Amino acid sequence: MKLKSVFSSILFIGILFNSLGQAPEDIMAKIRAEGFQNSQVMDMLGEFTDVYGQRLTGSREYLAAANWVSNKMKGLGLQNVHFEKYCPDCRGWGIKSFNVEMIAPNYMHINAYPLAMVKSTDGAVEGEVVYIRSFRNMDQVREKYAGNLNGKIILVGRAPRQRSLTDPVSRTLTKKELEDKESQLIAERVQTPLPELLKSWETDDIADQDFLKFVESEGALAVLKSRSMLLGTLHPDGTYYYKTSHMQPLPYFTIMPEHFGRLIRMLDQNVTPKVRLNLETEFYHEPENNVNIIGELTGTDPKLKSEVILMGAHFDSWHAGTGATDNGANSLVLVEALRILKAIGYTPKRTLRVGLWGGEEQAFIGSVDYARDHFGELDQRPNNESKKVSAYLNLDNGAGAVRGIYLQNNEFARPVFEKIFKSLPGSEDWALTIENTLSTDHETFDHYNIPAFQFIQEPLAYGNVTHHTQLDVLEYVPEADIMKNAVILAWTVYSLSEMNGMVPRKK
Ligand SMILES: [Zn+2]
Repeated sequence: MKLKSVFSSILFIGILFNSLGQAPEDIMAKIRAEGFQNSQVMDMLGEFTDVYGQRLTGSREYLAAANWVSNKMKGLGLQNVHFEKYCPDCRGWGIKSFNVEMIAPNYMHINAYPLAMVKSTDGAVEGEVVYIRSFRNMDQVREKYAGNLNGKIILVGRAPRQRSLTDPVSRTLTKKELEDKESQLIAERVQTPLPELLKSWETDDIADQDFLKFVESEGALAVLKSRSMLLGTLHPDGTYYYKTSHMQPLPYFTIMPEHFGRLIRMLDQNVTPKVRLNLETEFYHEPENNVNIIGELTGTDPKLKSEVILMGAHFDSWHAGTGATDNGANSLVLVEALRILKAIGYTPKRTLRVGLWGGEEQAFIGSVDYARDHFGELDQRPNNESKKVSAYLNLDNGAGAVRGIYLQNNEFARPVFEKIFKSLPGSEDWALTIENTLSTDHETFDHYNIPAFQFIQEPLAYGNVTHHTQLDVLEYVPEADIMKNAVILAWTVYSLSEMNGMVPRKK
């Protein structure tokens, strides 16, 4: 064969491969094949949640899980995998042992879980129960209870709402709900500017401080509260005393709604139950536990590789379950999305970066520190690095299938996602809604005028069973849904990477 024809054959094969290998429909087929036939997301999630367990911000367990996921990302061939520190003064805390039981007038084991950041008891302690319905008016509480709480166990808060046995446990979005979201003309939910929001949490989150200090100073042994959740579910989120400078509250538990109900009904019958409990916890200060985990597929187009498609999910969890639905599944969906793109040999034009944030459950601490380090202080104009971020995509609404996206008041982004979603099967009844959704890390990036979005997901049993509870475990993660979500994310970031131009900003 002559040299010339060898060259022209290579050239021809090259052109053919590029046009076939990189055609969007071909990429879609490859993403689907890799994401559905070779999915690794459930295997990764199983090891991650069952072996590593809860990932409370500041804890050693958080760091162990962070090490696991960063090694996993490196093993999958992701690039630039590293930790970035946040919150040097967030402390660590853990439970070593506890037990709560009613011992009079008869025996009942109480289904309980300690709130985070609370102190140990002095061995096993026991005391009669006193019920304080509300601490909103602390003057009244002091007047009524001063001198009456020594050696007592305090039940606090209203009786949880009685759940009906016929209430559905799990639900999916109806066609009408999605249509209503889609047809909304303006966002109804008001988004509080981030600095104000963070400021308000500094006081709102510790609204029980005076109450906890008062009952402890009066000699109370412990506090028990509950929450209206479904059938026996424990919801021990809070307390928010996560910094080294914060108080260490007295032993404080959430107990299951039915047990709380029985204890206060007994008091109504003029019977005073006696409770025995013990709790051993530990505090430590190990700032090395406080890391965001970053990894990427680095862009390859000389002009576009400095531009970034950023995906994020919070990696921390509350401590009673294993954080499978909040937010382990979504963290690993993002890793799986990049795994899929890497496995099919896709070389992105723009850089596809994933950020797994700590401290979201406290006050977006991890994502805010990342943003301040990269994009400037909250009260300054966003810097040039922020202008290189085309979009931020967040996942944090449980483990249900994606059903659309909140445009977060960015009408200019609608055509972008319309085009991307059009190619995804089943997306005909998804919602692209102008609505703002709140309370997770996309708000951080929105503050910097980065187009920032959170996906709409099927609610399933997130709101009444798994969110922040002891039932936030692998059993409630539908494998098919997280496989789909990884395929959706892979396709979305692929499309944003290939797009002409960046996602339009709203201001
Ligand atoms: Zn969450």
